[in-house]
Amino acid sequence: MKSKKISQLLIGTNNKGKLREIKALLPKNIKIFSTSDFNLRSPKENGNTFSENSLIKAKFFSKKSNKICMSDDSGLEIKLLDNQPGIYSARWGGKKNNFDLAIKRVFKKLDANVSNWRNRNIKAKFICALTIYWPDGKFKTTIGKIEGRISANKIGKKGFGYDPIFIPQGSKKTFGQILPKKKYKIDHRYKAFQKIKKFL
Ligand code: IMP
Repeated sequence: MKSKKISQLLIGTNNKGKLREIKALLPKNIKIFSTSDFNLRSPKENGNTFSENSLIKAKFFSKKSNKICMSDDSGLEIKLLDNQPGIYSARWGGKKNNFDLAIKRVFKKLDANVSNWRNRNIKAKFICALTIYWPDGKFKTTIGKIEGRISANKIGKKGFGYDPIFIPQGSKKTFGQILPKKKYKIDHRYKAFQKIKKFL
């Protein structure tokens, strides 16, 4: 069955970096709302996977606003750290979302667990689950991934979150050094979006 075209969409995130990025991906004919238009705080993310958490957010914001809602849940997985921080990526930044702190924690864990890590290829990937939730209870979820490695140092100021320490495969620059409009065309959110856009 063909879905009805969406004319309005709430982007269910309180993260300004994600809001900017998801807005840039969406067709211009869709009227976009953000959580601040409805004064909504984020729900507790108590799922066990990126998909579960993206559904928790999309459902919560859709129910509160009565709008169709798109939410993501995303994060960084570092292979040699047993895929940490994973779904806890945001929480590593503490209550104030301090990513200097989160990045320090990554370096500290690597120092403690991986000898000579700065001279090794520390495989990592960003993962994004995107969910669209309709007020009638229907929903769709897709997943996107981008592979890369952890930089020996924090470099670049262009992105958000863990961008200054993630070097995508095939590049020498961190996401923090890559122009946002370029990053938006290759990253995990873009890949999840390519799979979900047929439902818009
Ligand atoms: P959540 O999806 O709101 O739980 O947050 C995911 C966290 O993962 C964010 O706060 C970011 O720190 C991190 N993250 C997700 N996507 C990206 C990205 O594209 N760049 C940098 N950090 C990201």
